[in-house]
Amino acid sequence: MEKREELYAGKAKSVFKTDDPDYMVLEFRNDTSAFDGKKVEQLDRKGMVNNKFNAFIMQKLADAGIPTHFEKLLSDNECLVKRLDMMPVECVVRNVSAGSLCRRLGVEEGQELNPPTFELFLKDDSLGDPMVNESLVETFGWAQPADLQRSKELTYQVNDVLKKLFDDAGMMLVDYKLEFGLFNGEVLLGDEFSPDGCRLWDKKTRKKMDKDRFRQGLGDVIEAYEEVGARLGIDFDA
Ligand code: UDP
Repeated sequence: MEKREELYAGKAKSVFKTDDPDYMVLEFRNDTSAFDGKKVEQLDRKGMVNNKFNAFIMQKLADAGIPTHFEKLLSDNECLVKRLDMMPVECVVRNVSAGSLCRRLGVEEGQELNPPTFELFLKDDSLGDPMVNESLVETFGWAQPADLQRSKELTYQVNDVLKKLFDDAGMMLVDYKLEFGLFNGEVLLGDEFSPDGCRLWDKKTRKKMDKDRFRQGLGDVIEAYEEVGARLGIDFDA
């Protein structure tokens, strides 16, 4: 497969065409952003770490029967994926209260959420990714109801797989965001799964090991990502 021209550049990844219209190359960059792109920094090694982290997680999800766009790693910073027609909604599941849930509802951080919550946000930085619901998604045609239902089902299945994976490695999967798209009519998990798009706490100390370290200026951002990877058995030097 040959890498061709850039299709678009997101905040942390760039997307390239290939000579096959069904496939694209994702390039993970070192750019790190928060607050809808208002805080941006370059963090050494981040592109490589997130690319390999994502490959590891996508493989685990595929092994568990969850359909994803991921095909294979191409280099330290690149992977090959199927080209999806993305739905512009973010699916968020929370096992523990944190982040915007606490700000919005005045809930204290760190409470177990049972059953886990499911939220939808519209992907639109200019609007600050507003929270939406299934009715709004249907009325405005952001996704077909059946495709949204399937995305929701897959988002919960991901929780079953990853909660255990992180728990076994001494971490709590607090929350995470997923994005889905269509490939020949089938809903597949797209985008990425990395510590940029989830919250992970050490089970014992509750130390934050995800992008909150960047958002909150706690330091040692990539060191924490690499520690998460090491606990999962990911070899970033491979
Ligand atoms: N998240 C994300 N991209 C976004 C918004 C949220 O990856 O544009 C992730 C975030 O890292 C967290 C989860 O989704 O793991 C829930 O985020 P939340 O709604 O608490 O918003 P935040 O506090 O990050 O603004």
